[in-house]
Amino acid sequence: MKTGQEYIDSLRQLKTELYFMGERIENIVDNPYIRPHINTAALTYDMAFDPEFMDLAVATSNLTGEKINRFTHIQQSKDDMVKKSKFLRAIGQKTGTCFQRCVGWDAMNSVYSVSFEIDKKYGTNYHARACDYVKYIQQNDLMVVGGMTDPKGDRGLPPHKQPDPDLFVHVVETREDGIIVRGAKAHQTGAANSHEILVMPTVAMKPEDKEYAVSFALPLDTPGVMLIFGRQTNDERKLGTLDQGNPTYGVVGGEALVVFNDAFVPWERVFMFGETEFVGMMVERFATYHRQNYGACKAGVIDVLIGATALMADYNGVTKASHIKDKIIEMVLMNETMHASSLAAGYESRALPAGNYYPHTTYANITKQNITRYHYEICRLAHDITGGFIATLPSEKDLEDPVTGPIIKKYFQGNANVPAMDRIKMGRLIENATGGTSLVESMHGAGSPQAQRVMLLRDANLERLKELAKNVCGIDCEKEE
Ligand code: SF4
Ligand code: FE
Repeated sequence: MKTGQEYIDSLRQLKTELYFMGERIENIVDNPYIRPHINTAALTYDMAFDPEFMDLAVATSNLTGEKINRFTHIQQSKDDMVKKSKFLRAIGQKTGTCFQRCVGWDAMNSVYSVSFEIDKKYGTNYHARACDYVKYIQQNDLMVVGGMTDPKGDRGLPPHKQPDPDLFVHVVETREDGIIVRGAKAHQTGAANSHEILVMPTVAMKPEDKEYAVSFALPLDTPGVMLIFGRQTNDERKLGTLDQGNPTYGVVGGEALVVFNDAFVPWERVFMFGETEFVGMMVERFATYHRQNYGACKAGVIDVLIGATALMADYNGVTKASHIKDKIIEMVLMNETMHASSLAAGYESRALPAGNYYPHTTYANITKQNITRYHYEICRLAHDITGGFIATLPSEKDLEDPVTGPIIKKYFQGNANVPAMDRIKMGRLIENATGGTSLVESMHGAGSPQAQRVMLLRDANLERLKELAKNVCGIDCEKEE
């Protein structure tokens, strides 16, 4: 297993082609726009060496029997699925933001399971390749980005009918030694500071979409792979410290557009190639794995936000007001509801044919659906309690200025027992945690809300529920038909 420092050092060896703000970034590790995300991911490595968290952060590989960082583990039991949820919450409590590494973890578990089922039907050897790949990731303790979301173009058209065929990742050439791929994956959390990308298709497909039904893995510094790093709300604050609110870990995950300009993939890294009927399964597996997480990582992040809001009530001198207490209770209620459903998805998980465990789909979808509502509501309450000053605070430069600094501190003083600077710092943290990019991520990460609702309805089995109702009031079902 790598330490956080070893992870950061290993990133320096990569030659990832990354662009941001109109230029090629050669030194990704020390770039101030990217570094906070690297610090956050590094914590996923360091926690494996922290005695307090080892039980959550370290697992035993089913493939090698070796101790591995849990972020590279193939889920072996309900206990693993519950530990995952607890582990993500614990990291979120330390970072106050997204630590990115779960996407690749979920992608590995999805590909591991679906490759097994494709092999069973077609006698292919994808699963052995997937096992070799996972072993490589485990033994080198690498960070993988899970590449699912294609740009999608016209959402009303399937991949093969798009006017531009590259709007979904596809195979443009088949060679004896591998395939050539073209297209892009959008909003790739953690891509700038990952070693590898594991690509999966993003929508269910028909036989005409065969060239798009592809899953593969590549190192991110492969020739023909290019990253364009995205902007975030207030990202120029990263050039300072105080104004950023969360100076070490930043905000959300640091997303990039990952482009495949005719990149070569050797056969041993191809895990699906044209089996369109398994695409829907792969999409659903990944989505469900990732949706369980949102009541875990976000619960940890919201723990920090609730703490900050409660402190702000102290700093404002309003802790005793009953409506403040009631609003804090409401924040706790929503956060614990989300974590409870994430835990339930783990406790009710089941083994897939490949042997790895998979969350309860309804509970995982409820978890994610609730975060698209509750996170906004929790932020609304945080703004309500904190007050308007988080939207109008002067900059850290003005605070450092000998003329304006003392004036700002005088007029931004709350409770006289608390230094004005503490109140200002906490205000910035709340601004950071409740701002644009972080909320949009809660809405659309792991799939937009409607995607969860479709699965909730499907799994609700309404016909069975109708029968229950008829039985209770004595309607004879058979006679009716
Ligand atoms: Fe992990 Fe949460 Fe970030 Fe997704 S949003 S990558 S689950 S920390
Ligand atoms: Fe996410």
